Amino acid sequence: MKRICSLLLALAILLSLCACKKLPESSESILYAMDTQMDFRLYGDDDGAAAQSLGDLIAGLELELSATDNRSDLSMLNRLGSSTNADILALLRAAQTLSARTDGALDPTIYPLVKLWGFTADAYRIPREEELESTLKLVGLSRVHLYDDHVELDEDTMLDFGALAKGYAADLCRAELEKRQLTGILSLGGNIQTVGEKPDKTPWTIGVQDPDDPAAYVVTLAVEGTRAVVTSGDYQRYFEYDGTRYCHIFDPATGCPVQGELRSVTVVAESGLLADGLSTALFVMGYDKGEALWRESDDFECIWLFSDGSVRLTQGLEQAASGCAFTVVRR
Ligand code: ADP
Ligand code: MG
Repeated sequence: MKRICSLLLALAILLSLCACKKLPESSESILYAMDTQMDFRLYGDDDGAAAQSLGDLIAGLELELSATDNRSDLSMLNRLGSSTNADILALLRAAQTLSARTDGALDPTIYPLVKLWGFTADAYRIPREEELESTLKLVGLSRVHLYDDHVELDEDTMLDFGALAKGYAADLCRAELEKRQLTGILSLGGNIQTVGEKPDKTPWTIGVQDPDDPAAYVVTLAVEGTRAVVTSGDYQRYFEYDGTRYCHIFDPATGCPVQGELRSVTVVAESGLLADGLSTALFVMGYDKGEALWRESDDFECIWLFSDGSVRLTQGLEQAASGCAFTVVRR
């Protein structure tokens, strides 16, 4: 009898210890980098060391990959025509793969177009036909010669990793948090990256922004585990002229900002880089070609917001999505 009592007591102590085990505390931080606001919510980063290392990592990448900072490795490549920078080489390899998958819709050589239309200096203008034609001659990945340890560009060809850099940064941040065995959710501008499970085991909640109201969400996603959720749209950076909107995403085939039936495309994938590249490319491709790409792929899910307010999403997101009426695209 005595024995049973002490066993029960031990069990009770054990249970109360388990009940007291505290979940890791969350901490929030804000950073301005890569032309946008970034927010981190980390769990268990008690001394702030992980947030600090993510900040350092992103600042380091910005120094390498900014197209507008004259001191960056990318700017040097654009001026001098060659580079051995490992991150630039990695991004170019990813860009080549994504370009092939998207029929050329993703193309980091569009930088001369971004400049021509005035997006680098906030001095927007609509170019003349001849300017457009001559600038388009500088665009195309065939003008980029990628070797094992360096890259060379044809004359006057220039790169811009605006469509990929934040996704690449998110992947590196995720690896850093995993190394530290921490979990969290990162927002790098329009790029959301979740890492691991939330300590209380509830899903991460991620909103897809209303293109007409930055404070409102059209769809909310309940996401489990590690995921990248990236949106590209016509409302992040644009100018208007004569009632027409010219946004910062270019169709490499025409040299013009994308105009069409879509307001935004959100891609959910395992990799931040893949989601970032695909969200830009799918916005360029439009709905029909994008849907066809999804059908032949198994590494991403997708949400399309249309100009008429309708929403379509792929079947892998059906359970995760709420907040509005939507059409499910099935295989
Ligand atoms: P954001 O960075 O605003 O979240 P995106 O990831 O869609 O949005 O990237 C848009 C940026 O990518 C543009 O500002 C421009 O620098 C660059 N870009 C525009 N069109 C293309 C394209 N077709 N392929 C690759 N990069 C592009
Ligand atoms: Mg992108």
